[in-house]
Amino acid sequence: MGCNEIAPYIALQTSGGSTLARMKATKIVATLGPASDTVDIIAAMIEAGADVFRLNFSHGTPEDHAGRAQRVREAAARCGREVGIMGDLQGPKIRVGKFEQGRAHLETGAEFILDAALDNKAPLSNAERASLDYKELPRDVKPGDVLLLADGLIQLNVVRVVGEQVHTTVVHGGELSNNKGINKLGGGLTAPALTAKDLVDIKTAVDIAVDYLAVSFPKNAADMQTARTVLAASGGKARLIAKIERAEAIVPETLDQIIDVSDGIMVARGDLAVEVGNAAVPALQKRMITRAREKNKLVITATQMMESMITAPVPTRAEVSDVANAVLDGTDAVMLSAESAAGKYPVETVKAMAAVALAAERSQVYELDRDFINQQFVRVDQAIAMAALFTAFHLNAKAIAALSQSGSTALWMSRHDSGVPIYALTPEVGAARRAALYRGVRPVLLPFEADRDRALQGAEDALKARGAVADGDLVVLSCGEPMGKSGGTNALKVVKVGEHR
Ligand code: PGA
Ligand code: MN
Repeated sequence: MGCNEIAPYIALQTSGGSTLARMKATKIVATLGPASDTVDIIAAMIEAGADVFRLNFSHGTPEDHAGRAQRVREAAARCGREVGIMGDLQGPKIRVGKFEQGRAHLETGAEFILDAALDNKAPLSNAERASLDYKELPRDVKPGDVLLLADGLIQLNVVRVVGEQVHTTVVHGGELSNNKGINKLGGGLTAPALTAKDLVDIKTAVDIAVDYLAVSFPKNAADMQTARTVLAASGGKARLIAKIERAEAIVPETLDQIIDVSDGIMVARGDLAVEVGNAAVPALQKRMITRAREKNKLVITATQMMESMITAPVPTRAEVSDVANAVLDGTDAVMLSAESAAGKYPVETVKAMAAVALAAERSQVYELDRDFINQQFVRVDQAIAMAALFTAFHLNAKAIAALSQSGSTALWMSRHDSGVPIYALTPEVGAARRAALYRGVRPVLLPFEADRDRALQGAEDALKARGAVADGDLVVLSCGEPMGKSGGTNALKVVKVGEHR
């Protein structure tokens, strides 16, 4: 790597870096929370490279979420960028109830009872017993099962089940506090797909008009279909992301079925690691990313990517490698949770993540032709998308301009890395915001002229106006005739910018 290539990362880390941040292909999903609750901070995060903001329905009220969405849109407008919003349902996470003192220390070797009969709203839990928000737990476990609490920090082995009580031995002790999660090693808890709270939160998500809705803990495709039905019944148009975080969901057949009925998946490494063991997660991440892209679906890699930046202004080298490897695995997006929601350095974290992503992308070797071996494209619009990508790659074009209503052409193109920036030009604001999540795609909101040649000229002008191309650059355009019809991409054109003027 020469000096000229190193300079951008240093520039990105030391300056505002917004132009460079905009060049990165990998997207950043940043969770909002108390640390990022002003329009100024959100705008600074967008400038630093945040593309989609996540509203975590596990925390906060509907008013909190609506306020945050409002601020995202204000910040996006200020930055002149199309930015997406993702609502994330809490899902059937099994939790302990409230403690007498807010917390208690579980001693290694002690006995501990999980008691479904104990009121979980009242502060009745202590160092001997805890209440449960999931009353079916005694029916779901048997002696010998391993339960992991507080993200795996505490391990309990089930000794026996007595009525509504699960008696356990504390194998690894530690501090347990209010509402901490419970996972069963190997999976197998039969919680419902959507809780009563999720149903309320889906209404909130529809009111806010989120672009994506993440569904937590789906066991199978049917759970995702349930979510889709409920969302549609509320009039929601959000695309669905299945959070893969249960042992059941990573069985290859099940994973494929979940991907088929979803618009994308999240490698939800936090809960997944607790259910399957930390060591299994890196290989699963690679398989999930590959599979999602093969099926023309989206994929987000999440959890603890920049964890130390919750309190430190720089990431660890391990975190840098983790983010870089997710980028090289082919993820659409890397995600920040507490780092941006509750950390001390939300903007710096986005900036650091963008710099790492950009450096990893620069190291990529593009072998687009290999992606097409043994591939058959049966749809006209998909075949045109692939032809545009192939052409742009081989002609070393400066940009691809995919004009479409829904943005699906850009999505297809973005499943293959070519190194050529893809501009998704669309007159529909929802399509533009969704495209903010697609790897290598930059959304551009643009009303289309009814006449094809004028629409293509408009696209060329729009790219030139935002500095994406200059006179003499080669651009590959795709569009559908007649203009303005969804799913109709049927034409491909290669132009030299400025030639027709
Ligand atoms: P969560 O999901 O942060 O909502 O738990 C992500 C994960 O489990 O990794
Ligand atoms: Mn989770």
